[in-house]
Amino acid sequence: MHLFLAKAIEANGNLSRASRSLAPPAHSHHGIGDFDIGKIGLGAKNFTADFSQTAEYKKIARLGYVDIRYPTDNLFGIRFEPWHIKIT
Ligand SMILES: [Zn+2]
Repeated sequence: MHLFLAKAIEANGNLSRASRSLAPPAHSHHGIGDFDIGKIGLGAKNFTADFSQTAEYKKIARLGYVDIRYPTDNLFGIRFEPWHIKIT
């Protein structure tokens, strides 16, 4: 709740815009098995589109049992999150 409220304040109260980069309380897929991945040494860039240029991302994307939850132009209107994966 605290994280989402902080994001909403950052978005000048625009809850729709806030929810494109942070799920409202009880709406995150992290609670049902999704998780975030990253490359050691990439730091905060792990949570940007830059991560999709790494060998680690490309290897993960080729695995048949892993999907990127929010690919580019996803139907949810959520920003591209190459670090957020789900096991299929
Ligand atoms: Zn995530």
